[in-house]
Amino acid sequence: MLPLAKNYLESDVFKRVEAVPKIAEHYSPRPAGADGLWSELSFRLRRRLGVLNGIIDKLLITHTDAGAEIEIIDFKTNRIVYDKSDVPRELPAPRIRAPKGGQFALNFEDEPLPKPVNRHPSLQEALKTAAEDYQLQMQAYALAVRELLPSFAGATVRVTLHFLDPNVEVHLADELLEPARCEQAVDEGMQRTIFSSDPANFPVKTAPHCRMCNFLSVCEAGKKWVQENWSTDDAD
Ligand code: SF4
Repeated sequence: MLPLAKNYLESDVFKRVEAVPKIAEHYSPRPAGADGLWSELSFRLRRRLGVLNGIIDKLLITHTDAGAEIEIIDFKTNRIVYDKSDVPRELPAPRIRAPKGGQFALNFEDEPLPKPVNRHPSLQEALKTAAEDYQLQMQAYALAVRELLPSFAGATVRVTLHFLDPNVEVHLADELLEPARCEQAVDEGMQRTIFSSDPANFPVKTAPHCRMCNFLSVCEAGKKWVQENWSTDDAD
């Protein structure tokens, strides 16, 4: 964990976190309007099909001339495996918006990336794949924050996935965080969960994320896909 901790201490996320007043972690009141940092903020969100429980790693509230901004920060410790060679893979412009200072904004609705063949993906592709797995979670957090903090109704909501290895921030595209989109994503996710009780409802979806999957050792389809798409020379 030490390298991850060092990355965090050197990150822009840490600078932003350090710049605002800290709120006591236990039994602290909900954010009411002032700047501050809330850590391990638990929430309970009631939806038509069920109740969603969650804990937000860090909630950062700041005010600028443009108004209030709520930043939802979620730390990810899974290792991002990618090709560190200088050979860039071509990406359509809209997929990663405004790369700036190690930060990426992703829009997952573009056409799918081509499959990597016998090599790791580029950093951008690896980040896109990893972040895509967390899109619904982040939309749920954004929905919870909006519903549970009515005093911030007009605030800008921003989501940051901080991948501590290799210390890169990824931000979900604004359109994915629109209230209606978040509501739809959460409700559809709940509906899929409720009506998908048979294993046949959860077909394996092999993709670059298989390399980072905790179930790879017991997933035959995932193992086969990794063997076919990455040579042993690429393994590190
Ligand atoms: S290894 Fe298997 S279970 Fe894991 S992501 Fe890949 S297909 Fe899904």
